[in-house]
Amino acid sequence: MKSQEIRAKFLEFFKEKSHKIVPSAPMVIKDDPTLMFTNAGMNQFKEFFLGNSVPKYNRVADTQKCLRVSGKHNDLEEVGKDTYHHTMFEMLGNWSFGDPARPAVGYFKAEAIAWAWEFLTEVCKIDKDSLYVTVFEGSKDADQLGQDKEALELWSKIVAKDRILFGNKKDNFWEMGDQGPCGPCSEIHVDIRSAEEKAKVSGAALVNQDHPQVVEIWNLVFMQYNRKANGQLEALPSRHVDTGMGFERLCMVMQGVQSNYDTDVFTPIIREIETITNTKYGKDEDINIAIRVIADHIRAVSFSIADGQLPSNTGAGYVIRRILRRAIRYGFTFLNTKEPFMFQLVKVLSETMGKSFPELKDQRQLIENVVKEEEHSFLKTLDQGLLLLDNIVAENKDKKIDGRKAFELYDTFGFPIDLTALILSERGYELDEKGFETAMKEQKDRSRSASEVSKEDWIVLAEDPQQEFVGYDNLETSVKIVKYRKV
Ligand code: ATP
Ligand code: MG
Ligand code: MG
Ligand code: MG
Repeated sequence: MKSQEIRAKFLEFFKEKSHKIVPSAPMVIKDDPTLMFTNAGMNQFKEFFLGNSVPKYNRVADTQKCLRVSGKHNDLEEVGKDTYHHTMFEMLGNWSFGDPARPAVGYFKAEAIAWAWEFLTEVCKIDKDSLYVTVFEGSKDADQLGQDKEALELWSKIVAKDRILFGNKKDNFWEMGDQGPCGPCSEIHVDIRSAEEKAKVSGAALVNQDHPQVVEIWNLVFMQYNRKANGQLEALPSRHVDTGMGFERLCMVMQGVQSNYDTDVFTPIIREIETITNTKYGKDEDINIAIRVIADHIRAVSFSIADGQLPSNTGAGYVIRRILRRAIRYGFTFLNTKEPFMFQLVKVLSETMGKSFPELKDQRQLIENVVKEEEHSFLKTLDQGLLLLDNIVAENKDKKIDGRKAFELYDTFGFPIDLTALILSERGYELDEKGFETAMKEQKDRSRSASEVSKEDWIVLAEDPQQEFVGYDNLETSVKIVKYRKV
């Protein structure tokens, strides 16, 4: 089954169960100071769970564009190295927003569990013997929560006993934050190893162990408590269901492949990378990682730009710039790409995903231009920066690199700190991040005091013949402030 069809099947399934199919919220969040990017399907429904607004529909399903590169969910380090964590991914989800005044409109554990199982085993026809489910085991801490007996009973009716596992608070109890709605969850994991491998070790022992072929696909959260400011839990007046399933992981399972990157979500992009860079995926692990990183990162960057977030030097824009530069460096070092090339991947991405996400098609030209320009400007200094880094490493006696040197790479060559750390870690070196922060702060202080004394020398003014053009304020920023010196 093609990925398009899998996505459609999910939405159809829940539509038939009286769910309203809603569009994905933007991946870039503009109006929430607590979150830069959508990192889960529930984000756009947060206000309903908090009781601050009333939903128009009580049953909703969608596919949500998510980005997990900062804050509580940061998978960036894993991406490319493993085969199932992405920066940008789609989270399929179904929700029930309970309403105490109209209890009949919502649903809770019984339906959520039965439908998830029905969808996976009957619609997707995934072998029951490759699935494991988890149930919250309870906690002995201040909350003194008991085992999620309700979920256990419901699962016991449909799943063999040895396939039901118990999980701790970290994996099986979801909280929105220090306060607010929370509750136990049940996850579904799938074991896609060969029969031979399965005979050696039980899949049950590999659940939640970062095994690339025993992966979590769906998380069913049952919101039934509210955590008060004093940390105590109270029962919520209306209970909600919040589920999230990794779309690319589901495609991996359904397409019978061992990696998300071997699904048709990624293969057209990977073929294009192979063609452009004259390399082959699947032969050499360094090259494989580089190709996976680039295939992943072009999606994150393109979707962000389509949402209106351009790369820049601050906030969300800098997150995007960092992701792009990370990919450019992987290409440069492992695929030998010395010219901009990632922008050419936008075409195939918009062809494969544009039907479900028309913003990619509509904004294709802009995305290509921005990516190309970013590649161009970073490639100009990347070479020299890497040379400097080589020298720093060569001169270094211990395995820790001075943060001030990393600051020079940042300041002069545009190397984001995490990129420098990544390159160093590839060589077995560590970075002194504190030193970097100190150097950064010192520079900020210097430029603040410098701007105080030099106010008279530097002004922002356009095209005054009395003034001599001396350059842009900062080549790094997307907003270029033109500076003129008084003559
Ligand atoms: P994992 O344990 O694999 O990191 P998670 O427990 O952090 O996943 P949830 O927050 O429960 O993930 O999100 C719901 C679902 O979204 C997961 O079951 C998984 O299928 C998918 N998912 C989570 N993170 C990623 C990611 N970085 N890339 C692709 N899919 C993901
Ligand atoms: Mg995770
Ligand atoms: Mg997990
Ligand atoms: Mg989970």
